[in-house]
Amino acid sequence: MKTTPFWWEEAEPQHGERSFDRTDCAVLIVGSGYSGLSAAITLAEAGQTGIMVVDSLRIGEGASSRNGGQIGNAAKFTEAQAAARFGDKRAREIMDDYARSMPFMLARGATLKDPFDLNLCGTITGAHSRKDMARLRQGRDRLPPDQRQSYEIIDEMQVPRVLKTSIYRGAVVRHDQGNIHPAKYVRALANRARELGVRIFTGWRYLGARRASQGHIAQLGAVQGGEAAEIRADRILLAMNGYVGPEVPWLRKRTIPVQSYMIATEEMPFDLLESLIPGNRAVGDTKHILYYFRRSPDGKRILFGGRARFRTSTEEEGAAGLRRFMEHTFPETRGVGLSHAWLGNVCFAYDFCSHGGRMEDGVYYVSCCNGGGISNQTHLGHRIAEYMLGKPGTDRGVIGSHFPKLYFYNGNPWFLPMVGTWYRFLDRSARWFD
Ligand SMILES: Cc1cc2nc3c(=O)[nH]c(=O)nc-3n(C[C@H](O)[C@H](O)[C@H](O)COP(=O)(O)OP(=O)(O)OC[C@H]3O[C@@H](n4cnc5c(N)ncnc54)[C@H](O)[C@@H]3O)c2cc1C
Repeated sequence: MKTTPFWWEEAEPQHGERSFDRTDCAVLIVGSGYSGLSAAITLAEAGQTGIMVVDSLRIGEGASSRNGGQIGNAAKFTEAQAAARFGDKRAREIMDDYARSMPFMLARGATLKDPFDLNLCGTITGAHSRKDMARLRQGRDRLPPDQRQSYEIIDEMQVPRVLKTSIYRGAVVRHDQGNIHPAKYVRALANRARELGVRIFTGWRYLGARRASQGHIAQLGAVQGGEAAEIRADRILLAMNGYVGPEVPWLRKRTIPVQSYMIATEEMPFDLLESLIPGNRAVGDTKHILYYFRRSPDGKRILFGGRARFRTSTEEEGAAGLRRFMEHTFPETRGVGLSHAWLGNVCFAYDFCSHGGRMEDGVYYVSCCNGGGISNQTHLGHRIAEYMLGKPGTDRGVIGSHFPKLYFYNGNPWFLPMVGTWYRFLDRSARWFD
């Protein structure tokens, strides 16, 4: 079993330029995932020149080339919950940001030359309990009639029609969502950015910045060899999500990195998998400890993911937990070989909302995919870029929203194992009284 992502078989992340031939630029973007690259594309499409992207890893080697490839755009809270935190106006704008993210991602995707296996085959949300099913129904009923059409409510008895498992109390099929090849998508974004004149450097870690007479001076350190470099930039954008390190304490105090795990099975008979997950829809559920799964783009493997563990652990340990749950979901997969097991970091905010804006020192940031960010982070990168360009009316929604911090917390989420235990209890007890 390999401990690299299945996606890298076809689209392994590549290095960018390795040495700097200049010491200043107009915009320095830290992070070459969906958010950093999407911001670079929007800036360059608006005519901005002198954009440099830097990453300590290879291009897109963070979460963006490791994820499940399921695309949708749901917020992790209702508008009423958002209104209690942000007030009515901001809450409406935030919900609007989430609603726009998937259409935006599809529009951006249409401008990319490289294919990324986009398949709008639909997604399924399985209800863990009858209460969850009632909530899913209410969520659909609250939508305006034109949006309701793409939601199909599946009663418990009907679940086998869309998924051959007995673990759900009903489900919702979203016919307007689907899946992609995540590593091909990040590669396509990088190629589009380069085509627009953006330069991408890898193997350099951002260590912080100080103000200069014009803009900032960023300190960078080579990941190998210990070399140091300074780049003066008119503006800096940090797009580090779950990989942010102690070099940005302001973000570390506000964000919780969480490891998410995935496995890929060996190839299995196509017809068997078509009977288990018809049409290759992407599946998630309503549990606190969420599991998600789909088939590979050729339909011959199951790719199964989740937050199998809440302690920092290895790919192998994560794989053992995922395998157990996969076999529980589909007993037909018992004993099947695993070809790949891997992990990556997602990033949560205390309010489960994405955030973007400007820190006290004038450096811009986007952060917090809260578990799912293919379309959200693509859109967030675009939104922050518009804000950086000074477009009127862009300081709204998630941009400039209050970004809560946790006191006595420095970025080391020591409390996650306890959160995991509590979530496991909630998930189990939800079925006791169901
Ligand atoms: C296993 C897994 C499954 C997932 N499944 C899904 C899914 O099915 N659907 C979905 O929508 N989302 C999913 N996600 C979430 C999704 O992958 C992320 O939301 C998205 O990729 C975030 O993009 P990003 O550009 O913000 O961050 P990333 O892609 O993580 O990029 C951040 C980059 O910043 C770089 N960086 C950080 N600090 C520094 C520094 N100091 N100097 C230089 N570079 C730095 C990192 O090296 C990294 O490349 C999943 C994530 C994981 C890990």
